[in-house]
Amino acid sequence: MLEEIKQTARVAGYLWEKGWAERNGGNITVNITESLDEAVKSLPAIAGPFPIGTVLPCLKGCFFYCKGTQKRMRDLAEDPMSSGAIIRICDDCASYEIIADKVVMPTSELPSHLSVHNYLLAKGSPYRASLHTHPIELVALTHNRKWMEKDVATRMLWSMIPETKAFCPRGLGMVPYMLPGSVELADATIKVIDDNYDVVMWEKHGVFAVDTDIMSAFDQVDVLNKAAQIYIASRNMGFEPEGMSDAQMQELSTVFGLPK
Ligand SMILES: [Zn+2]
Repeated sequence: MLEEIKQTARVAGYLWEKGWAERNGGNITVNITESLDEAVKSLPAIAGPFPIGTVLPCLKGCFFYCKGTQKRMRDLAEDPMSSGAIIRICDDCASYEIIADKVVMPTSELPSHLSVHNYLLAKGSPYRASLHTHPIELVALTHNRKWMEKDVATRMLWSMIPETKAFCPRGLGMVPYMLPGSVELADATIKVIDDNYDVVMWEKHGVFAVDTDIMSAFDQVDVLNKAAQIYIASRNMGFEPEGMSDAQMQELSTVFGLPK
């Protein structure tokens, strides 16, 4: 099995253990085109073609591992090829075929995940993985207007421990509540990624993260949620945490060459 798919299974297990993936919650889509050999790429379709619902010109001939619709992360962790499938985008850039391993229909959020991958390739980004999950403390933050304002939550989270800014250096972009799986939500997410964020917060729902691989996307969400937990721990001890100063955070950016 491909290393990327093994890594996806490990991440799915972490999501379940963290309590971020109740029932069939969350999605993973990984562009595995560059890891497949020609023999796999030329496998005949076992199902399809199926319409994507949109035209994605940069994805012609690309291959993705996608979590299956209604599939659980905890099951994917144990057997990724029974809870997900490898798909090939057809030459019309508007449909896909399933090539392996079983006929597992991809997530209903496939069009929005693929739209993000199309955007990333168009931009020349090295990012190949997208993750949607429900991190408890980060979602809780979005139930208060203050934290939905641009970069207010980012600043607070970065100020909890230095690693947060070092390992999630673009911060947390914000998207107001929109219907899950909608075109509007996908478009708003791409807009925030384009505004130089790797992790996008969907108000009262969850996060959408992109990175070079699925483990790195998970890590960015994990460090942000850890910071939210430290904030909450301080509040539970009865005080507002002081946080690192702007000068201390600027020093980190200068010394480590961070993008913000
Ligand atoms: Zn969700």
